[in-house]
Amino acid sequence: MLELINAVCGYGGVTALQGITFEVKAGQLVALIGANGAGKSTTLRAISGLVPLRAGALRFDNEVLTGARPPRILKAGIAHCPEGRRVFPHMTVEENLDMGAYLRSDRSEVAADRDRIYGEFPRLAERRKQAAGTLSGGEQQMLAIGRALMSRPRLVMFDEPSLGLAPNIVERTFAIIRRIRDTGTTVLLVEQNAFAALDMCDHAYLLEGGRIVLSGSGAELIANPHVRKAYLGA
Ligand code: ATP
Repeated sequence: MLELINAVCGYGGVTALQGITFEVKAGQLVALIGANGAGKSTTLRAISGLVPLRAGALRFDNEVLTGARPPRILKAGIAHCPEGRRVFPHMTVEENLDMGAYLRSDRSEVAADRDRIYGEFPRLAERRKQAAGTLSGGEQQMLAIGRALMSRPRLVMFDEPSLGLAPNIVERTFAIIRRIRDTGTTVLLVEQNAFAALDMCDHAYLLEGGRIVLSGSGAELIANPHVRKAYLGA
């Protein structure tokens, strides 16, 4: 469904991705793990069009999206739930959700999707007129997930969704991400909690120094001695 081929990109003099190739198959939950600075966030930003590719290609459902700007990527069906949630703090919950649908013109369908999200996250419904900046960290994460879903993505990318959340909220967030996959939306997950990510994914890639150094099923990576030692604290 998604293919990144020999992608090279970076920031000024820093080359963050040194030519990475991977694919995400339709219907799967694919995890991208690695240490801080390995290039995980940059990979998601490259797919979103936020960081331009210096070389390589991006394909989604056989459409070539190399060089496409973020609105075209979103329109193609790829949503990005960024690290640190990045809700718009001075806008209400409802306005934040509507921002996720800003490229859609089917207003009644958008309203129906918003109601579905309120059904899924009752706390957001209760706080729909409240400024997003007043929500707790967990509520902001639910809002960021809801906002990403408002574009009706076929692929949704999550960047460190568990970061800074209390353990019970982390569990809840992971359950929501699994359910998103189970209801047919493809997921690309970047997670610092390597065990949780490997445990729930269908396929995983390990990124080190801007290169994919290992790939396999979650179970295969969990059993790999290097992964165990460097990422699972075993
Ligand atoms: P983290 O979990 O810390 O976000 P990561 O695996 O997501 O790590 P990236 O954020 O993609 O890693 O960073 C990859 C490399 O690019 C690192 O060397 C980092 O210092 C550098 N980098 C990331 N963002 C920028 C930026 N805005 N300007 C300059 N260099 C950056």
